[in-house]
Amino acid sequence: MKIAILSRDASLYSTRRLEEAGVEQGHTIQIIDYLRCYMNITSHNPQVIYQGELLEGFDAVIPRIGASNTFYGTAVVRQFEMMGVFAANESQAISRSRDKLRCLQLLSKQGIGLPVTGFAHSTKDVEGLINTVGGAPLVIKLLEGTQGIGVVLTETHQAAKSVIEAFRGLDANILVQEFIAEAKGADIRCFVIGDKVIAAMKRQGAPGEFRSNLHRGGNAEKIKLTPEERSTAVRAAKTMGLRIAGVDLLRSNHGPVVMEVNSSPGLEGIEKATEINVAGKIIEFLEKHAAPNKTHDRIKY
Ligand code: ADP
Repeated sequence: MKIAILSRDASLYSTRRLEEAGVEQGHTIQIIDYLRCYMNITSHNPQVIYQGELLEGFDAVIPRIGASNTFYGTAVVRQFEMMGVFAANESQAISRSRDKLRCLQLLSKQGIGLPVTGFAHSTKDVEGLINTVGGAPLVIKLLEGTQGIGVVLTETHQAAKSVIEAFRGLDANILVQEFIAEAKGADIRCFVIGDKVIAAMKRQGAPGEFRSNLHRGGNAEKIKLTPEERSTAVRAAKTMGLRIAGVDLLRSNHGPVVMEVNSSPGLEGIEKATEINVAGKIIEFLEKHAAPNKTHDRIKY
């Protein structure tokens, strides 16, 4: 197969591992900086041009689109889809999962476990919003945040109110969420490919830190999932329309709750913690499923 990896940086661990695994399995791999692609959007003959070269003959693309480049990155993925190229994750699914609020709304419709979550525009309704989600302690999250930045734990009603008002004063969109204290600063990353969790790790935040992000100094170890956790992760990925996803769960008193579904999950943490060849499994998935004109997103929202 001829596979394109859409990535801004060929030296990133995930990009390198996907390239390595593809080459090892006998494929031709090209790493393409999607911000350097330009597109010819003409009737019957959509094209992608990369540094002057017309991109042709690809069987699959693996999008690794950074959160800050979702708009242009998904446009490039969509252009490949218009050309009939199989996308490991489709542009619609990537856009959908990047919007945290949309993601939670869709998951809730499917009855997937979630922390009780509220969202409001006006600060005039702060009291009502806090009460809706059950009062302090609460977690307040910037809708646009990643890697734990903009995720704040407020222990008291007054602190919650002040933080909400401060964020809203800056015109930031926020989610207000029940604090799952029993997770004890740990979360679970489930790596989903197709309809299976192929690897899972538990991430534990640094001492005194409720956020488990590895970028915030957390550490990771391999973990065995319960059947309920497995099925929650697979259903969450499916609800987003993602074939490849990193689903983050918290272990709550009322079962697994989904925090987030990531469309470009990193490979470094999970491969190192589990010693599973995740990159190889992504390539194997493409070998089995990539076919021309197989765009399949049927999700309405
Ligand atoms: P980001 O996308 O920026 O990583 P998350 O929503 O995943 O933000 O939150 C970062 C971390 O904070 C999570 O991995 C989890 O450990 C912790 N966390 C987030 N929300 C809650 C919550 N409602 N209850 C308990 N811990 C939480």
